[in-house]
Amino acid sequence: MDMSGKTDKGILLVVSGPSGAGKGTICSAIRELYPDLHYSVSMTTREPRKCEVEGESYFFRTKEQFEQLIKEDAFLEYAKVYDNYYGTPKKYVLDLIDKGQSVLLEIDIQGAMQVKKRYPTGVFIYIVPPSLNVLSGRLHNRGTDSEEVIQKRLAQITSELAMAHQYDYIVVNDILEDAVHKTSAILEAEKCKLSHNEGQIETIFKQYINKEVPLK
Ligand code: 5GP
Repeated sequence: MDMSGKTDKGILLVVSGPSGAGKGTICSAIRELYPDLHYSVSMTTREPRKCEVEGESYFFRTKEQFEQLIKEDAFLEYAKVYDNYYGTPKKYVLDLIDKGQSVLLEIDIQGAMQVKKRYPTGVFIYIVPPSLNVLSGRLHNRGTDSEEVIQKRLAQITSELAMAHQYDYIVVNDILEDAVHKTSAILEAEKCKLSHNEGQIETIFKQYINKEVPLK
């Protein structure tokens, strides 16, 4: 809280895009650049991959547990992505935003559209692969998915790209460094928006009006 008693809300930064667009890599770089930015760890019903850690990569839950949480309205959004549930814990995210802390969500397109409905003041960034060839190469090179899953993901690309119009910002991920730079420029610009600084600006104005700060 600032001296005016008003807490400016934090930024809800939502990064999504087709699988293989590189949103995970961009988000990791952004998290390193902004240690104060909270990362919302999602819940999922998919099997953990090698090297994935419970509570860091995801909270891994059974389908039954996940469906119970849906009934309890515990998710800001949730979606079925390639036959598994994925969801964002609502309370964790909204409490941080209310306290003025910013939160990063890395989620799929269906989820991002749900967040947009529930929280339209979020900042929605869409990461786009530069070409179908590059996308296919990335999905094969990362070696995490079977050929069947890769083909499923590639088949969805046309309808996924059409969703780009729903976002505030588009970042084409051709050269990773440029894409990270653009994403952090978006965050910096959003941090300067009046809507995130009303409390702070009020405090500064008050000092001028009341001459609380002695003039030198
Ligand atoms: P993966 O299984 O490769 O980790 O993720 C598959 C897809 O699910 C990715 O596009 C990822 O961004 C998305 N995803 C991860 N967490 C969430 C979430 O909480 N909600 C939604 N809607 N999608 C998510």
